[in-house]
Amino acid sequence: MTTGTPVSRPTVTPTALTKGFWEAAARGELVVQRCSCGQLRHYPQPMCPTCHSVEWEWVPLSGRGSVFSFTVSYKAFHPAWTGRVPYAVVAVELEEGVRMMSDLPAEDTDAVAIGAPVEVFFDPQPDGLTLPRFRLVRGR
Ligand code: ZN
Repeated sequence: MTTGTPVSRPTVTPTALTKGFWEAAARGELVVQRCSCGQLRHYPQPMCPTCHSVEWEWVPLSGRGSVFSFTVSYKAFHPAWTGRVPYAVVAVELEEGVRMMSDLPAEDTDAVAIGAPVEVFFDPQPDGLTLPRFRLVRGR
């Protein structure tokens, strides 16, 4: 049991390669790399795993997709999740075919299912980073 100031979730320090992803998230835009061959990829990588080109650009995605897979954690593996268990961690397959990982908001834990529609939302963190996260789309 913890008391006092809530602990923030761990985040990352943007690098030269990932900076564009985080800057887009801060603007409320979800982007991934598109290689000169047309292949979309995430996480950011310096070279295309398909054609080995190092030419790429950031392109925006719809932010809509579905749950490809998930797990529900009943243990807080970091103090930031103390008091938030159980919570769902999902692999999202975006409409454009790229997959991303996210935890879901607490209210989505009981309703998570493979194939459930999700949408991105942008979650500003105390350290200044904005995390793209996903939530279930209800009432479709
Ligand atoms: Zn390529």
